[in-house]
Amino acid sequence: MPTTTTTTEIRRFARRWAAALRGAVFPAMTTLDVEVTLRRLTVRLVEAARGGERGHELGRSVGAELVAANYRDAAVMNHTMDVLGSHLLADLGELAGGVGPDRVASLQGAVAEGFVTAVRQRVLFEQEATQRAALAAAHAAEERRRASEARFQAVFAEAAVGIGVVGMDGIILDVNTAMADMLGVDRDGMRGRTIADVIGPENLGEAFANYSDLLSGAAARFRMETAHTRPDGRITHIDLSMSVVRDGAGVPEFVIGVAVDITERRRLQDRLWHEARYDSLTDLPNRTLFFERLSKATEPVGLCYLDLDGFKNINDSLGHETGDRLLVAVAHRLRRSIAGDGALVARLGGDEFVILVEGCGSPDRVCRQADNILDALARPIRLDEDDLTVTASIGVVHSALTGTDPAMLMRAADIALYQAKTTGRSRWARYDPAHGATEVTRRSMATALPASLARGEFYLEYQPIVRLSDAAVLGFEALARWQHPRLGQLPPNQFIPIAEETGHIVGLGRWVLATACRQARCWYDQFTEPPVYVSVNVAAAQLRQPTFVAEVLAALDDVGLPADRLQLELTETAVAGDTHGALTALRELAAAGVRLVIDDFGTGYSNLAHLGRLPVHQLKIDRSLLRTGRPAAHPDPAHDKIVAATISLAHSLDLDVVAEGVETTAQADRLRLLHCDGAQGWLFGKPTPAATATQLISRHTNRATPA
Ligand code: C2E
Ligand code: CA
Ligand code: CA
Repeated sequence: MPTTTTTTEIRRFARRWAAALRGAVFPAMTTLDVEVTLRRLTVRLVEAARGGERGHELGRSVGAELVAANYRDAAVMNHTMDVLGSHLLADLGELAGGVGPDRVASLQGAVAEGFVTAVRQRVLFEQEATQRAALAAAHAAEERRRASEARFQAVFAEAAVGIGVVGMDGIILDVNTAMADMLGVDRDGMRGRTIADVIGPENLGEAFANYSDLLSGAAARFRMETAHTRPDGRITHIDLSMSVVRDGAGVPEFVIGVAVDITERRRLQDRLWHEARYDSLTDLPNRTLFFERLSKATEPVGLCYLDLDGFKNINDSLGHETGDRLLVAVAHRLRRSIAGDGALVARLGGDEFVILVEGCGSPDRVCRQADNILDALARPIRLDEDDLTVTASIGVVHSALTGTDPAMLMRAADIALYQAKTTGRSRWARYDPAHGATEVTRRSMATALPASLARGEFYLEYQPIVRLSDAAVLGFEALARWQHPRLGQLPPNQFIPIAEETGHIVGLGRWVLATACRQARCWYDQFTEPPVYVSVNVAAAQLRQPTFVAEVLAALDDVGLPADRLQLELTETAVAGDTHGALTALRELAAAGVRLVIDDFGTGYSNLAHLGRLPVHQLKIDRSLLRTGRPAAHPDPAHDKIVAATISLAHSLDLDVVAEGVETTAQADRLRLLHCDGAQGWLFGKPTPAATATQLISRHTNRATPA
């Protein structure tokens, strides 16, 4: 029981309680007596608040003891209800081991029930006494009885909780105003009805069973929650307690019901339920609700598991607020794409969404659903003045292939999504159980990445970048590889997108930068000519790091590499706009002498005018611009014009141009005619380990300065 510190809280509450009762009619008691009594009852309240069946009994006994101590006034009960309602949580909540508002409401109900029943029993007792006193003392006894009855009537009428008196036949004899208000009917209207009129239809069975237990004496009371529909259509949620009042001989006379309006509490619960199951940003069902639905879904089940492509880049470059608005817009499109076909769309977190198709007869139906989603996202999303294009990759599964176990379905969906991501994004892929051994989930990949990096599973390959006029090696692009212990060598398109989406790219990029700089320093030491540089890919997220410039300069410094032996490859997306000081970073790097190039030109915004204002030195034309579908000897004139225009525009902006993905001599010849400066591609060398790259340089050196 309470220790010294807890007694302070009990005293405080008892004092409040006593103060609240001061206005009520008082029996002959000193202030000290009152406080001592209330302190004792407070200790009991704390125990009652701890809950359980015993909790209700204890609560009742508090009400009954008040009456026993001669507090029989309605005001006593109402003030007590107030004190419980306003202070119990704050004063005693912790003592009682953490109490919620619902516990307070039921404790109020229990205390009120104990109080009302005790007052009524007093009346009966005094009626008995009247009879026993017979004629002699008739007058005085009758007076007492009448006073007692009047007191009950006062409690009844003025109580803030609902009270009803019900005959043993279930017919309502009377209700007080609070009860009538709760039920939305006036007092007269309630008399003569049965308790079935108070209890909601779904609880009627339970109520009848309880009521007959009361009558048979199998139970002394019962308690239930029920919803009552008022005549005006509103629904009142009621916590209802019923107990039997017996006469002196133990014969049940009637039943007293005490009702506490818990509509507010219910509303709160519903709100909490909603909050726990709906995503606050998009108001779509969240992960919790999705898994609840999935585990109960009607078979067969289809799932489309989708993830926006490059969302992290959008978030990083345009800001979280824009990212959030984009997600809301995407949610809206997704909801519309399933409108009317009974599917469920949920947000699993971040930029991951899932669509659940229940009773999905054919796997084709899920694929059509996936097509709908891609269609729904095809149109750019307008936010303020900007049109943003988002694409999604979708993993499609059907329970026919996986069974209906939610974990299996999700794993399969994840694998399929991973497939969609690595085969080029903006598409869906269907789960193929035949993939078996190489099953990789994006999640497992993402979680494994940092540890794999620490274990040294990553290495770099170097691909030569040559001058087109004489094929002299100018530098090497460093390309990351993952030697996975189980899956073998993984190309970057299988882990870079995931690293970007999870943010692991920052750590990985740091390692790439350091490793490439170390290699470049070796070449610097070994060969004075040609002055080869190393070209390192930089993801948008890296550039957004406030420490990025300092890290690059430190990487150079650590190995003593001149800044012009390092080139950084940035995408247009990363440098678009200047939301987070990207431009400042570029200027500082350029000022330090680091070479900067725009990578993958022709796949992003392709805004040359904008690029002209950036401190970059070079443009790398994406290999998709060279791939025309026609034999390279007969270039597609329209396509050729684009390449030609790009090169000449770039030159007018003082940018060098390097063409990527040059595979044939015809392509190289054509590019030379268009005055393209450099080239990279299989024709000049595939990505190779550092040692092979070193041999390549020495061959060139030998050619340049024959021994
Ligand atoms: P990228 O920066 O455009 O790199 C060039 C890609 O084209 C490389 O693919 C290279 O192997 C490939 N390639 C080169 N010549 C040819 C050719 O003649 N024909 C064809 N078909 N392909 C050619 P890889 O190594 O698979 O890298 C793919 C992408 O992964 C890179 O594209 C780059 O965006 C990313 N990446 C690679 N390493 C890193 C890194 O360390 N950091 C970051 N952020 N991204 C990286
Ligand atoms: Ca690159
Ligand atoms: Ca590229």
